[in-house]
Formats: sequence, C-alpha cells, structure tokens
Amino acid sequence: MTPSSTPGSGTPWGRIDLHAHSTESDGTESPRELVLQAHAAGIDTVAITDHDTTSGWEEAAATARELGMGLVPGVEFSAQQQWASVHVLGYLLDPAAPAFLAERERIRVERVERARRMVERIGADHPLTWQDVQDHAAPGATIGRPHIADALVTLGIVPDRSAAFDGILHWRGGYYQPHRAPAPSQAVRIIRAAGGVPVIAHPAARGQATMDERVIAELVDAGLLGLEVEHRDNPPEARAWLREQARIHGLITTGSSDWHGRGKPNAFGEHTTSAEALDAIVEAATGAEPTRPR
Ligand code: AMP
Ligand code: ZN
Ligand code: FE
Ligand code: FE
Repeated sequence: MTPSSTPGSGTPWGRIDLHAHSTESDGTESPRELVLQAHAAGIDTVAITDHDTTSGWEEAAATARELGMGLVPGVEFSAQQQWASVHVLGYLLDPAAPAFLAERERIRVERVERARRMVERIGADHPLTWQDVQDHAAPGATIGRPHIADALVTLGIVPDRSAAFDGILHWRGGYYQPHRAPAPSQAVRIIRAAGGVPVIAHPAARGQATMDERVIAELVDAGLLGLEVEHRDNPPEARAWLREQARIHGLITTGSSDWHGRGKPNAFGEHTTSAEALDAIVEAATGAEPTRPR
C-alpha cells in the first residue's frame, strides 16, 4: 500500500498536543483545569503526562468527555543515564502493570528523599524548610524541583520558578542532588511491557543526557517507538537530526508544548502532533484506550 492510500483511523483528532502536566506532578493546575485550558487554547486532543504518576487520568478523561475533546492518557517516566536525566513519555499504557507500578513507586520515593536532601542544603543558606515545600505540593503529587521553586518564590527568595531553575535549583547551582531512576532502555521496556508507547521527551534538551546515534539505536532495540521532535527545548538544528534518526529507525515523531500551567512559559499548541502520528500511537498501544473527540 502506498502511504497516500493508508486509510488511518479516520478519528477527527483535530489539533493535538501530547505533553502537559497537572498538580498531580509539577504543573500548577488540576487535571480538569488542564483540559479546560487546552480547550480554551483551541486544542482538540490533549495528553496528560504527569511525571511518574497516572493519578490525573480519570479526572482529565471525565472533563474531556464533557467537552467532547480527545484525551490521551500518558506519563512522563523518569530515567537516568550516567547521572543525567532522560524523560520517557509513555502513552496509553496499563497503569496497573506490575513492573510499571513497582518502578514508578520506587522513583516517587527517591524523588522525595532527593528533594529533602536539596532542601537541607538550601536551608543552610536560606530560610527554607521541608514544610514550606510540602505546602506547595498537592496531596500525593510527584515531588520535584518545581515545588521547591514555588516555596522559594513564596518566601521572596526568587521572583519566579524560572529564576529558581536558573540559580538555586540549577544542576550547577551548588545545591543540586540527583535522584536515582532506571536506565532509559529499562524505562522503555517497562512502558512496552505495560502495553504503552514509549517516546523520548525533548531528546535534545540541554541538561538532559546526550542522545547520539548509538544511544538511539540501543533504545530502538529496547522497544522505543517515538521521538518528541517539535519541542521548545530541542534546538532547531537538532530537530533535523532527530527527524533523520526517526526516518532511519521508522519511529513516530511528535510535537508538543510541555505545558505546566503558570509554572513555565510553554503555551498549549506552540507545537502540535499530526493525526497520522497519533493514529500510529493508538495503533501500537494495548494498555489503555484514548477518549476520542466528538
Ligand atoms: P526535577 O524532575 O525534580 O529534576 O525537576 C525538573 C522539572 O521541572 C522538569 O520536568 C521541568 O519540566 C520542570 N519545570 C517546571 N517549571 C520549570 C521552569 N520554570 N524551568 C525549568 N524547569 C521547570
Ligand atoms: Zn515537569
Ligand atoms: Fe520533561
Ligand atoms: Fe514534561
């Protein structure tokens, strides 16, 4: 069959944004509000991809059904390659798959311990306590540096989240601590074992482990299915290289905003994903169903 005669799903996905965070991790808005704001921004199909949790899926899907929007349940799984972090998006996985649950829980516990270590170090120089950080995280949320940033803002130590990330929370800022996480190939295997579709998030982002040809080939061997090519953190010259890698390995390419509400300047729809790419993701997934727009 020639590509032009490939039928596709015929699902009218509309404008698609496949990367967004809620208060279940380090976004500033609830899952419901995430979907409402995507709708207001002209997005027809949105994914919820909180770090290391799937707890926002139900609320997001219910809101999407109410609005007739499409909703792709996902997760942004933490991984690590020689102390540098790698984020692996997992779409439409079974949230109850045992290996996924076990690793996700381990990462979440490590994240709390790591945040406490950072707060202890920062607390030696600034009036910051662990309670201040907890006050900025929703109950059960996946803890991350953004919650420390919000506490620093409230205390008047920095003007906003981005300033906190550029200074005190930067990996060279003097207080940074890594948290343990599985190797990217292991994260890819766990997502596949749960019936999900693994896509490397912002593969060319600074501060994330470098993706060269060898690393990508290894991840493809582990079961990688996609690359998030269109993302503000991938420099334009890196995107052409990523597209070429996707062509070589037959990978799906996506584009997304990585919306965090008021926590980051990223705006819904600043990058989008094609219907063909989302059809391919839905086709490859066996762990969960998307909510289709109507
Ligand atoms: P952590 O995972 O704890 O190392 O924290 C890093 C996370 O903070 C990344 O996933 C970013 O998306 C998120 N983040 C949220 N707001 C910002 C910001 N203003 N600048 C940089 N990173 C941010
Ligand atoms: Zn985040
Ligand atoms: Fe990320
Ligand atoms: Fe993200």
